[in-house]
Amino acid sequence: YEAKRRQCGYMLAEEVGEGPPPEHLSLIGEMRQALEHREFILHYQPKLALASDCIVGAEALLRWQHPERGLVPPGRFIPFAEQTGFIREITPWLLKEVAAQAAVWRESGLSVVLSANLSARDLLNPDLVTLMQRLLAIHELPPSILCLEITESALMEDPTLALSHLAELAAIGLKLSIDDYGAGQASLSYVKSLPVHELKIDQSFVGSLATSPKDAAIVRSTIALGHALGLTVVAEGIESEADLRWLEAAGCDIGQGYFISRPLTADAFADWLSTRQGG
Ligand code: C2E
Ligand code: MG
Ligand code: MG
Ligand code: MG
Repeated sequence: YEAKRRQCGYMLAEEVGEGPPPEHLSLIGEMRQALEHREFILHYQPKLALASDCIVGAEALLRWQHPERGLVPPGRFIPFAEQTGFIREITPWLLKEVAAQAAVWRESGLSVVLSANLSARDLLNPDLVTLMQRLLAIHELPPSILCLEITESALMEDPTLALSHLAELAAIGLKLSIDDYGAGQASLSYVKSLPVHELKIDQSFVGSLATSPKDAAIVRSTIALGHALGLTVVAEGIESEADLRWLEAAGCDIGQGYFISRPLTADAFADWLSTRQGG
């Protein structure tokens, strides 16, 4: 929490007492304007099937193209958007963008599953399920072309409500993924009870595979756990060829990381993919 606060660079609601302080209101206003002026953009990071060497998907990652501050990473404004509730306006916009992009790529013959990240608050939003149904219908998308990534902490606030929404999302046919697996609390009981399809091993374990036998043991056993539960296992934060080869040999299904590709704009992703497939 403290780290988030510092990253965020702004005071959080609890710390300032009654009502939102003026600087909050102005930042919320700034974010609302940014949404209207289309300053929020999505970058897409490729997901590689390790055994077949095929790109099977991409994760949408939010950035704020700020007129003065340049490209602002999500860690700098998402925690604030979560604290102020503004995330309730960002997420529906983001899901609409991702669904529209999935439709565009699908029509051009690109078959990739697009993943979007959800915040804890989003899982308590009663309109999320209807929104997803509407987006699938509008774009005539097969539900399994979209994947929603959630973190374990997303369930802490109201597990019963969050779980029932997740069950509805899974029933529609959307893919669900546990993000940053191993970095949060209560992991095993949630993995057991959640209707998820994918487990993403937290990048803190992946980044030190080569040097840390302990991390290697954790990654190996997480792959086995995921497979025993019938889940697709993803490793994120792959930064070297050695890590990629290690994960492939260990039977990890999908890889993501700078070694494969950094997150790219939608156009750059499509170009990158056609170059890669062309030669
Ligand atoms: P995440 O979902 O776990 O995303 C992975 C993060 O790791 C991304 O950072 C990505 O750019 C970065 N990354 C990818 N490959 C590598 C690598 O090889 N090495 C290293 N060191 N890092 C790598 P990013 O884009 O800054 O996003 C950070 C977090 O912000 C995300 O973590 C996610 O929790 C959150 N986030 C991003 N976009 C959204 C969004 O649209 N909505 C919500 N609610 N959260 C978002
Ligand atoms: Mg993610
Ligand atoms: Mg992650
Ligand atoms: Mg990654």
